[in-house]
Amino acid sequence: MDYDVIIDCYTDEPSGLGVPPFLSVHSRYIVGCLEKQNIKYYYLTIDDLRYANGEHHFAQSFNKRILNVTKNKDNVESIIKNAKNIYVVMGCFVKYEYVSAEPPTFSEVEQLLHKYCDNNSKKLLFYSLGGSELTRKSIKETVPQNLFDEIIFGNTYNYFLGETGHKFKPNYDKLREIAVLSARILNQLERPLVFEIETATGCNRNPGCTFCIEGMRGLPLQFRNKEDITQEIKSLYDMGARYFRLGRQPNFYAYQNCNVNEIEQLFQMIWDACPNIKTLHIDNVSPHNVNTIEGEKITEIVAKYTTAGNITPFGIESFDPVVREKCNLNGTIEDIHKSIEIINKYGKKRGDNGIPKLLPGINIIYGLDGQSNETLSHNLKNFEKILSSGNWVRRVFARKLTSPYGEQFDRYTSEELEEFSNWSNEIEEKFTIPMLKKVFPIDLVITELRMEMYKDGNSILRQMATCPVRVVIKNKKLKLDEFYKIRVIGYEGNRTLIGEVI
Ligand code: SF4
Repeated sequence: MDYDVIIDCYTDEPSGLGVPPFLSVHSRYIVGCLEKQNIKYYYLTIDDLRYANGEHHFAQSFNKRILNVTKNKDNVESIIKNAKNIYVVMGCFVKYEYVSAEPPTFSEVEQLLHKYCDNNSKKLLFYSLGGSELTRKSIKETVPQNLFDEIIFGNTYNYFLGETGHKFKPNYDKLREIAVLSARILNQLERPLVFEIETATGCNRNPGCTFCIEGMRGLPLQFRNKEDITQEIKSLYDMGARYFRLGRQPNFYAYQNCNVNEIEQLFQMIWDACPNIKTLHIDNVSPHNVNTIEGEKITEIVAKYTTAGNITPFGIESFDPVVREKCNLNGTIEDIHKSIEIINKYGKKRGDNGIPKLLPGINIIYGLDGQSNETLSHNLKNFEKILSSGNWVRRVFARKLTSPYGEQFDRYTSEELEEFSNWSNEIEEKFTIPMLKKVFPIDLVITELRMEMYKDGNSILRQMATCPVRVVIKNKKLKLDEFYKIRVIGYEGNRTLIGEVI
């Protein structure tokens, strides 16, 4: 009973990913806090518990529910049984079909905790969503009652720091040491992961978009300094990490108020400290900060200093002017098209791995205020304009508007679900698939693809990267976590390439 246990049940927030192959800041910072207090701990994933519960792989498929085990997988029962505190980390905003992981539902967590936990352990749930009192109340009512001794929202480290005020508020001075110590999590990991790195919190628009969770958290714009970010990456790098995404912020271009020099120095410091990084990517960019003089310079810097295959995901959400006005979305439609052009100007060239250096991504939301029968045609008209401009887009993500509690709390009518499905299909057929074929033409050679999943007799490979394209190798079982070079020989659906190993 002289140690604690972290059970990672994965997180997926609008700004910050913690579903394998990504590792969230939330679990990692608990490790940092426990290290700082000299408390012994074990890091487990929900996959470890499922594995201990007897789940296994299948003849023609890996079981993605047990693929992300840690070095502790064979001792789950004794580890959990004797723990003093058990910290469960979860909070997925969308119900997404992940390639090689499956976040659990509350009822699965309840069943597995009941099976393995001793009643003497204190059980705490860290729920990464829940930015307002209303959402917190709703989450508390939905979590199985009496399962947890405490439910904690906000930054996990604030709990260990004894923060009594706003739990989502960053405490970057105190995070400095915790972030560095958190690298010791690598001692317990079995498989390679992409490490999500926080650079800022808060939005640089006020008022922001009406539906946004970041706005709901009510946080002022705050940046971590470049020395702290670099030290954190260096400590992970020294422990063997090679894949990073500067992903935990709502808008990377806003870093230090769109300060071009600060952004360039940040990248220079990271590369000076960690010259053999294999992936350095970013996440989340607002188009209103791209179509500016600074924005163009930042784009040049991001294309120069990050590794190929990087994306600037634009929260465009809708091309319908009525929706844009009602929801106070960021930038004009003109800004969006110009931003796509700017990113292409600096990022369209292919890198050594065969993928364009830096391309825009587009997020579209169904169900926003002001949506009408016209909205889809506004979207399609603008997608057509992008397609005929000769510019490229790497990824389109169309999703339903999600309540701030997370999608598992949402209820849609069957008509709405059908309409959303029609939306998605039209966007896929008219834009996503033709664009996929432009960015990844037949015969293109792509390297650094990791064997990630075996499904129905086929191997699925992706890069250790932000929003990586999927490559399926038919009728072959490649070696898990090995890297391959392939040639594109076809397409499957809207986001998968068919390849052959060369
Ligand atoms: S620009 Fe809009 S979506 Fe992005 S963080 Fe700000 S309020 Fe949220």
